[in-house]
Amino acid sequence: MLEIRMTAGGKLDTSILDAAGPLRGEGLFGLQNQQLSDTLARFRLPGWRIRQLQAALYTQRVASLDQITTWPKELREQVSAAGFRAGLPEIAETFRSTDGTERYLIACADGQTVETVWMPDGDGAEDDDSSTHLEPGAPAGRTWTRSTICVSSQIGCAVNCQFCLTAKLGIIRNLSPGEIAGQVAAVLNRHQAEPGRDRISLVFMGMGEPFLNYDAFMDAVRLLAGPMGVPESRMTVSTSGIVPGILRFAGEPVRPHLAISLNAPNDAVREGIMPITRKWAIADVIDAVRKVPLRPRERITFEYVLLAGVNDQPRHADEVVKLVRRANFPAKINLIAWNPGPDVPFAMPDPQAVARFQQRLRAADVPAFIRRPRGRDIYAACGQLSKTRDRSPRESE
Ligand code: SAH
Ligand code: SF4
Repeated sequence: MLEIRMTAGGKLDTSILDAAGPLRGEGLFGLQNQQLSDTLARFRLPGWRIRQLQAALYTQRVASLDQITTWPKELREQVSAAGFRAGLPEIAETFRSTDGTERYLIACADGQTVETVWMPDGDGAEDDDSSTHLEPGAPAGRTWTRSTICVSSQIGCAVNCQFCLTAKLGIIRNLSPGEIAGQVAAVLNRHQAEPGRDRISLVFMGMGEPFLNYDAFMDAVRLLAGPMGVPESRMTVSTSGIVPGILRFAGEPVRPHLAISLNAPNDAVREGIMPITRKWAIADVIDAVRKVPLRPRERITFEYVLLAGVNDQPRHADEVVKLVRRANFPAKINLIAWNPGPDVPFAMPDPQAVARFQQRLRAADVPAFIRRPRGRDIYAACGQLSKTRDRSPRESE
């Protein structure tokens, strides 16, 4: 692992960068067209050279400038010699679950790591398209037919939901657009996956609260939906209910689907497990969501983490039904049985309670899906991302 140290005077100790290989120099990955052109202004590149660079960075996802075959060798050498590099993030460590899920620690240039999860063949909450044929042109030997990548937006999180392991870290820092989109690029490369050919979905449900890092998150979405080729209809962002973020999101021309972490049937229960409720009550969140113009057949997802005895009783389900009816926009509920973590004082719900909760919602015509926990054994499941380096089996790279 690369560690960047500070000198006694608080400056970055760059001596170690000489040994840092691909992390050395100024990374280009994450910059949009105009930013690429500004950053490389001294080379006076015509627009078509910048477009070639953009295709190499985001469509081919090259690991080094040397692989930009559309550029003459001298140009690649000049730009590298000036201290630039492709800057695609690298997977530093991989943990593999018995269910095929993989959790990665991805190295950032400052020595921090960010967590990303690969979930082949979904988690049971997909209600759109669940056919299982292999895409034509997929590499031989491939075992998955679709896959979901769970992407982080911050290192740690400030929201402090009581049931979530990421909350224990506090907020360490925001991720940049390149660090957000770069997680996807690194994982696609590892699996030789191509968004244009393979059914790849993205969920912004890793570490952090995307709407508290709004600009970087949306810049990443634009890179992903643009040159990286992931349709906006295959992306979902989850928020704990940051009202100003939801209102901005409502005005975005290109945007993922929206999921709201509801997790409780009323403000009283929600305040106990999600202190953010004191700032924005459920009704405020729902009013903000109402401003998001839905696409044809689009629904808002409410996520609901079931915590034994806290919010998993039939009367809670009945309250959720009323809440969804009052909201009066197309919605579905994704039920998530709570995934345990050390020092998190909750209990997993009884599987029968989960099934009963779902039935109660469905009986009232509220669409409800149960999400299959993925990669619990490697701390990859929802709410378990917390730099758990030492607790889980790892696969050497
Ligand atoms: N910060 C955003 C997105 C990341 S969390 C948000 O909270 O929406 C993604 C989902 O995991 C949220 O719905 C959250 O409620 C849920 N979650 C958090 N901790 C969990 C746990 N221990 N078990 C199951 N789900 C959990
Ligand atoms: Fe942050 Fe989401 Fe965890 Fe809450 S559930 S602490 S918002 S990551």
